[in-house]
Amino acid sequence: MKVGFIGLGNMGAPMAANLVKAGHDVTGYDVHAPMPEGVVGAISAAGAVKGAEVVITMLPNGAILRDVAAELIPAMEKGAVLCDCSTVDVASARAVAEQAAAAGLMALDAPVSGGVGGAAAGTLTFMAGGPEAAFETVKPLFDVMGRKAVHCGGAGAGQAAKICNNMILGVTMIATCEAFALADKLGLDRQKMFDVVSTSSGQSWSMNTYCPAPGVGPQSPADNDYKPGFAAELMLKDLRLSQEAAEGADADTPMGALAALLYERFVEDEGGRGLDFSAMLPRFEKRGRG
Ligand code: NAD
Repeated sequence: MKVGFIGLGNMGAPMAANLVKAGHDVTGYDVHAPMPEGVVGAISAAGAVKGAEVVITMLPNGAILRDVAAELIPAMEKGAVLCDCSTVDVASARAVAEQAAAAGLMALDAPVSGGVGGAAAGTLTFMAGGPEAAFETVKPLFDVMGRKAVHCGGAGAGQAAKICNNMILGVTMIATCEAFALADKLGLDRQKMFDVVSTSSGQSWSMNTYCPAPGVGPQSPADNDYKPGFAAELMLKDLRLSQEAAEGADADTPMGALAALLYERFVEDEGGRGLDFSAMLPRFEKRGRG
């Protein structure tokens, strides 16, 4: 397939490289990042999408996506699909989808889960919102870059799925970390705590697969001095998006709001920037109730 790829950073570069390895014809554009091997560099975003059947964007946020989409849409071929894989606010995803439809294009919001490791290994999960026909067109590319792709519904549904998932993740990670810190203070061995909770009703992905306690459970960033993994500031970004969406939709999300506040303090005031989001455990460990 002829693919345009805009935004070749930590995630975009390995995703584009996997498309090239699978035999797709990829032209890329990024304001800073170098082109991965096999990706033909264009001198502008519009130049990268000429003649492309699918254009993938992997950008930092919704404001940048809106700017880039405004440049891309007039340059794309009628009937082509604009597939944004960034994590952005639902409103930006829907606005871009409307502009694309008005120009005779199809749009998908298809954020990913799986991080840089999943992007390199081609094992991402895609959660997509937009027309069924657009999903079917892009599906062979999702199958190269990932292991699973779920069509979640209309425009914005992919971003909705992503921020709801990550709101659960942020809340369960904090709950798991505070419970470990409480267990410490009660004199309960961490391994015993893991053995019980990971097989009891307190289990979750945060406990069972990504245990925040070093030396306990499967290998995780906790075993590597809390080097990310999934950085605390990226978790904060997603929690803020969930709260922005909850405000827009008048949804009551008190646990999500508190998780956003705790990660904000952690990243901005408590030295958490650059650490994995599971480093909430050493944070709680050092604190008392005051
Ligand atoms: P990144 O900052 O490494 O990459 C973004 C790239 O976009 C950069 O190379 C930047 O130069 C480029 N860019 C910025 N403005 C541009 C423009 N106007 N035109 C062209 N290129 C432009 O970020 P990343 O880690 O690759 O994340 C990308 C997206 O994926 C984000 O929305 C992020 O939330 C999401 N995401 C990241 C992870 C992760 O673990 N890194 C996991 C899941 C989702």
